[in-house]
Amino acid sequence: MHRYLHRLVIAFAIVTLANDVAAAQEPALRSISYQLAMSRPVSHLFEVQIIVELPEQLKDKPLQFQMAKWSPGRYAVFDFAKNVQEFRANGPVSRIDDQTWSVATHGSTTVKVSYKVFGNDLSGTFSQLDNRHANYNGGSIFMYVVGHKSDPVKLTIQAPAGWKIVNGRTERPGQTEWQFPNWDILIDTPTELAPDWTQDDFEVDGKKYHVVVHSFGSEGRKRPALVKDIEKIVRAEVAMWGPPEFEEYTFLVHFAADDKSGDGMEHLTSTQIIRPGALAEPGVYDSTLDTVAHEFFHVWNVKRLRPAELGPWDFTRPLSTRGLWIAEGFTNYYGHLMLRRAGLWDDKKFLDREAGTIRRIESAQGSRLMSAEESSLSAPFLDDAPHAQSTNLQNTSISYYPKGELIGMVMDLLVRGRTNGKWSLDNVMRDMYEEFYLKSMSNSYYLRGRGYKTEDLERIASLRAGFDFGDFFKRYVRDVEVLPYDEAFAFAGLRLVKTPAKEPFEAGLSLQFEESGEAIIDNVRNNSPAEDAGLQADDRLISLDGKEVTRNSWLKRLARFKTGDSIPVTVKRDRRTIKTNIVLGQPERFDYRIEEKADVTVEQRSLRAAWLSGK
Ligand SMILES: [Zn+2]
Ligand SMILES: [Zn+2]
Repeated sequence: MHRYLHRLVIAFAIVTLANDVAAAQEPALRSISYQLAMSRPVSHLFEVQIIVELPEQLKDKPLQFQMAKWSPGRYAVFDFAKNVQEFRANGPVSRIDDQTWSVATHGSTTVKVSYKVFGNDLSGTFSQLDNRHANYNGGSIFMYVVGHKSDPVKLTIQAPAGWKIVNGRTERPGQTEWQFPNWDILIDTPTELAPDWTQDDFEVDGKKYHVVVHSFGSEGRKRPALVKDIEKIVRAEVAMWGPPEFEEYTFLVHFAADDKSGDGMEHLTSTQIIRPGALAEPGVYDSTLDTVAHEFFHVWNVKRLRPAELGPWDFTRPLSTRGLWIAEGFTNYYGHLMLRRAGLWDDKKFLDREAGTIRRIESAQGSRLMSAEESSLSAPFLDDAPHAQSTNLQNTSISYYPKGELIGMVMDLLVRGRTNGKWSLDNVMRDMYEEFYLKSMSNSYYLRGRGYKTEDLERIASLRAGFDFGDFFKRYVRDVEVLPYDEAFAFAGLRLVKTPAKEPFEAGLSLQFEESGEAIIDNVRNNSPAEDAGLQADDRLISLDGKEVTRNSWLKRLARFKTGDSIPVTVKRDRRTIKTNIVLGQPERFDYRIEEKADVTVEQRSLRAAWLSGK
């Protein structure tokens, strides 16, 4: 049996090797070197030079340089090429399409190209250069040589005077040159340059961790405590997975001191975390730890144990995978659970957070229209995607983050409950990591291991749990049935309680308030009282029941009415003023909480303790 398996593996390896050679189609280039400079930070222009040394047999072929349409970890198409300017080369240049430039070599074995990229967004997906710092995501600034993403590349960075460079592959202070095995790893290495970032270090089980912080606002002396708490998270997650496959790991953290949205982006040996606000401000500390717990979990789930489609990638079209509810959703679930296991949250905080996620999912219309797998396939439309045209996505879609989080929690409790606490989703995830990462042959140049299909999780979970998860996947993953919360929570001596909210009506409206205080209709639910009244998104809500609408009062005002009551409302649409009436329907807003069952048993209590503590 063993020998037979061995032969199969060898056959597989030969086929894989042949495919790789076929895919490359031409001999490797002699070298690819990137030089990054930023001589005028205030212009937000990164200056990139790529020098390619060709083998003799390729010196008469044109070489194509391509800007990715998106970058790993965020699946909307952003078309990074839109920010490229002044593309030049040492041979004639022709633009092939929206993302590709071709350079004729005319017999030269050295091709030099240069271009500038505008970048002024501090985010895990984009890049920012200004007079404070440079922070880049390589996918948004470095073109690849078409057909040669798998070739080794070298990077040299020329920093402005006094700026220090750091990334997750920095081996020594003052380092300005890096070698990467391929372009994918180059862009997996986000980098920060500034005169004034700080670095704190700690070690867990012989691995080194660096917490690099760049603060644009006050830290309120909270950084030492933050580093200690990050270490607790690392310990909790390593305790679940076992040793991570790196020697050093870097948290690149920005406190942006603005009001824009935050971000987190996972990489093999680092993560980029950007928080709005300043560390000293209320809530920022806690939300940072929340992001840290999520991103560090990606060291295993997503970056190494990954859906089959996650690398190497085709950056000429959007990604299509059914597995993001596992990749991101399970990471959301475990991120929260790990905060509890690290001792940073108590039981109540964790259970309240999950109850909040249940409320969010169960009150979304899209939950009954879009399955977890469909949500994953729709990622290019959902994941921070820009929309020039109006969409109905707020009513028709759900996010694979909270949906996958709940599927993960329910699966975990079902495995624990039905095996009397012997096994858990932790075991299933470790089995997956072993089978698809540690022990399987690599099927590409990019990374160890091979990706999984959602059916693989179904199979491995069924094996571990000793019962068939087929029906579960059919109903809750590929269809839109309400998850079996009651059965799952009962195993831990808990129950889910749903009660009408104190302010039970919103009439199908969601509002956004501008800085001026003006209320803009952000969404109108389908088949709701607001839709019946003819209201639509982007209407300015002038009055409700004859009174001005404010952030703090509109739900309270609606709560004074009851089902069937008619409430006058005035909106402004373009230059028209429209008066209409909202007729309230059934209560729409509910509170969810997870509480202890009255008849909880000792076994249920100990199952719950094992679940929440990981011991
Ligand atoms: Zn910075
Ligand atoms: Zn994530």
